[in-house]
Parts: sequence; structure tokens; C-alpha cells
Amino acid sequence: MPLVGIDLGTTFSCVACVGDGGVPTVIRDGQGNTEVPSVISFDGRDAYVGCAAVERKGVLPHTIFELFKRDIGKPLDSAHGGAAPYEVGGFKFGAAGMSAILLRYLKKQAIRHFRKTGELDETDDRKVALDAVITVPASFGDKERNETKLAGEAAGFRVVGMINEPTAAALAFGLGRKEELRILVFDLGGGTFDATLLRMASGVATVEATRGDNSLGGKDFDDLIERYLAAAAFRATGVHVPEERGFELQRHARRAKHELSECEQVEVAMTHGGEDLVLTLHRKSTHSSLRVRPSGENHEFYFEERSTDLLHRCRAICETLFDEVSIETKAGTRRVRWSDIDEIVLAGGSCRMPMIAEMIERVSGKRVQRHIEGFSYDTAIAVGAALYGVHREDVSDVLSHGMGVKVLEDGRPRVDCLVERDTRVPVTAERSYRAPAGAVLEVYEGESRAPDECELRGRLELNNPEGQVRIEMAWSSDGILRVLADFPPHGRRELEIKNEDFQFGRRLALLRERVASLTVHA
Ligand code: ADP
Ligand code: MG
Repeated sequence: MPLVGIDLGTTFSCVACVGDGGVPTVIRDGQGNTEVPSVISFDGRDAYVGCAAVERKGVLPHTIFELFKRDIGKPLDSAHGGAAPYEVGGFKFGAAGMSAILLRYLKKQAIRHFRKTGELDETDDRKVALDAVITVPASFGDKERNETKLAGEAAGFRVVGMINEPTAAALAFGLGRKEELRILVFDLGGGTFDATLLRMASGVATVEATRGDNSLGGKDFDDLIERYLAAAAFRATGVHVPEERGFELQRHARRAKHELSECEQVEVAMTHGGEDLVLTLHRKSTHSSLRVRPSGENHEFYFEERSTDLLHRCRAICETLFDEVSIETKAGTRRVRWSDIDEIVLAGGSCRMPMIAEMIERVSGKRVQRHIEGFSYDTAIAVGAALYGVHREDVSDVLSHGMGVKVLEDGRPRVDCLVERDTRVPVTAERSYRAPAGAVLEVYEGESRAPDECELRGRLELNNPEGQVRIEMAWSSDGILRVLADFPPHGRRELEIKNEDFQFGRRLALLRERVASLTVHA
């Protein structure tokens, strides 16, 4: 069965496969693009995805759905908190449903590709089974991973693996390399930032640690420009830019940002308050322009200067990551430093901004490769996922969060961690506890010892007699958790996890049916 690697991005998604001779190929859509905007637009039961949805954005903004990945794992009803459901044909699609529709579209692109290469026969699209490895941000917890898997299965994929995005990027970069390397993956996407340390040795990749921020990405750089444009337009005309023009400002800001990656200076032309305005944005403030700064308040826009805080945040996350990994030296054990890193891999579209590589080079004293043969910021994650699918036995990934159970310690509830974060998967952990009769097992995800600072992930009614209970937690390499409780001498009993908010099988059947009831235009 053909296999694809899918980078299910917040703003862009990408699909790749590994062709004959182990060479990765990025699958193109009907228009020849390798990247599909993660955007959906509805017209009744018709769903338009990717570029077709973006085209409708200007005309039918109220039918557009985007950035839904940020809401993955949030309950559907927290509509006011952001996870606004979209109603199609009387059914509310949440973030997982939206992802399923996007994935359905990506599956269509993949099927078309495999038909062309002769790997698939001409049959009904819905009956074609495809294996998929889907990537997720390192910061995703178990719940978000489950939701993503649900979306993949509902779209008609057999999800054979899920790996962290930075791991995938590193694989695309270094899977074929034989020397021992410590790699830092710096992935700055549209809405998220992830930093990961990996070891590569004789073709085997091991993640050492990974840290991220779910609310740091290209969007924050857009916002800087957008705010400047709004302020400058107001200064020039005395008229506030109304909210309904936000879309337009956003578009101007993003385009200007992209151009600033290529040019030192760009101009944004807009009409506001009855005036035609031309606003100039600069990439960096050179010495000479500082000297000719007009007296009084300076209203010039220097992109890199204004981005200092965002760059600091990226750097700080890298450095906390380094603190997590200790290395052995002749002088003893110490934390990782910039100088210990052999290669820095940039991933995510926002690394196109020259200031990113410049900042990393400044703090690390190392050269960052900007152009690597056969490697692109935009497609590396999908390519790595496809490679992972083919070389699954050579790769190990780590958990991003610890997992434990609630226990009573001196009468106070505590989370007893069975598996620490950064543990490699697959992994099985077990521990025995003394439990009263009819105990309820609560499974928590997080790093704190206080249950209310962690996330409750599942409850299991034990119906046990008083005595020892052995708890086993097992993660498969798809990152999905299974919990078992066992009380000898009664032997291992199968117990039902009463997980109120996640009933995979039932929801899958429902979602699959709903997605199938839509026409997804390829
Ligand atoms: P995600 O994986 O989060 O969906 P990507 O890795 O595809 O995102 O990156 C998307 C981000 O990259 C967007 O914020 C986009 O504006 C930014 N980006 C793409 N090309 C450029 C460029 N030439 N210069 C600056 N930013 C860019
Ligand atoms: Mg990405």
C-alpha cells in the first residue's frame, strides 16, 4: 500500500512520498503547488480547500475557515474561546473535523499522484486505502495527537505513525548521513515555534529533547507590520482604520513581510480616509538612516528592530531546551551549549526571513546552511514524515509531556509521574500502588506534581478489592497511550477507560460519515 508523509500545518500543509530507489517526492496539487494553504471554504455541502478556498476569501470571507489547527483538542463548545464550530448540513465541525476535510483533500491529491505513477489502479477514491504518517508540533499533548489521528482516520487514511514536526525536519536533513551529529531543528512556522535537539548516529535518529511555543510564529511578525500600517494610516489621515478592513491590512502586511525577505525596503500602497497613501517599510536600520532620523518622534518602520522581542523569545526557548540535555565530557557532566551543536536545521516558512539565520549565527558562532541540496524549508517536514514511514524502525521520537496518575501523599492529592517528558517512544512503564476497594484511577498529563496544574486525560473505575494495583502505561510509536490496571492475584483484568471527552471509535464513525457527506473539490 502506498504511504504518504503529511505536514498538517497551521497555515500550509504538504504531502510527500518516497518513490523508487528511496527518493522522496513532494506531491503537487492540480495547479502544481507543493504547499496547500490550510484553508477551507464552504458552499452548502461543497468544501473548497487550499488555493480554491483562498481565492474565495476576498469575495466570501464569511465562508472561510483557517488556523483551525490552533483549536485542536479544545472542546467544540468553547466557541467563544476560539474553537468556533462551523455548521455544514446541520453538523458542527470542530477543529478535528476541519482537519479531516483538509486531509481528505490531501488524500485526493495523493491518489491522483499514485495513479499517475501507476502505484494505484483506477478505482473508487473512497475505497482506496492509503497509509499515512502525520506530523504534529512537539508541543502537542496526547489529546491533540489523538484528535489529529482521528482526523486522519476520518479522512480515510490508515494512520501508521505520528511524529513531531522537528523530528521529521531533521530526518529530511540527515537520515542518509553516516557521521554522528547533534542537530538543532529551529522550526518557525505560521503560528508556532518548536526547537528540538536530536542525535544522529549511523542513520538512527534519536530526539534528545524538544520545547516549543504554540503562540509564536509568522503571524506575530505579520501583526507587527499590520499594527504599523494601521497607525501610519491614522497618522496620515486622522481617520482610524475600521475593523472590517482588517483582512486587507493583514494581506498587505503579509505580502510586505514576504517581500522584506528579498528586498531591503518595500512600499505598501493603500487608500484610506479618501487619500492615496504610500508607506515605506525597511528591513534594517542602517547607520546612515539612523543619522538622518528626523528630529522629534521617529515613525520609520525598521522590521528587524521591531522584531527584537520575538527573536529573543525564540532564542530563550532554544536555551531552555539546552538546559534540559546534559552531555558527558572529560571534565564531568554539563548542559548543552551552542558550541556542542554540529548542525542547525531551519524549518518553517518564517525562516525565510534573513534575520532568523543571522540571529542564530550571531548567538551560536556557527554558519547556518541556507541552501541544502534537496531540502526546502517548506517541504522538509512532509518529506521527513514520508521517510519516517519507510524507515520507522530506525527512528525514535520522544514524549513532549510527562504522564502520571493521581495518588494521595500524606492525605494530599499528588501526580505521581510514571513517564517523564523527553522519554523515547515506544515505551511501557509500570508501578504498583496500594489502593482501597473500588478505587478510581485518574491519569494526568503535565510536568507539575499538583493535579490542578496538569491536564486530566482519563479516568478508570477499577472495581478492585482493597490491595495492590499494578498500573501499566504503554505508548505505541504512533504516540497514543493505553492504560491498564491489574490487581494480582486476581490476574489482569480488562477495564474500560471512562474518558468523557474522547471516545475515539464512536466519534470516528460519526466524523467519517460527515466528511463523506461533503463534496471535497480536488
Ligand atoms: P505552518 O507549518 O505553521 O503552517 P509554514 O512553515 O508553512 O507554517 O510557514 C508559514 C509562515 O511562513 C507564514 O507565517 C508565512 O507568512 C511565512 N513565510 C512564508 N514565506 C515567507 C517569506 N518569504 N518571508 C517571510 N515569511 C514567510
Ligand atoms: Mg510547519
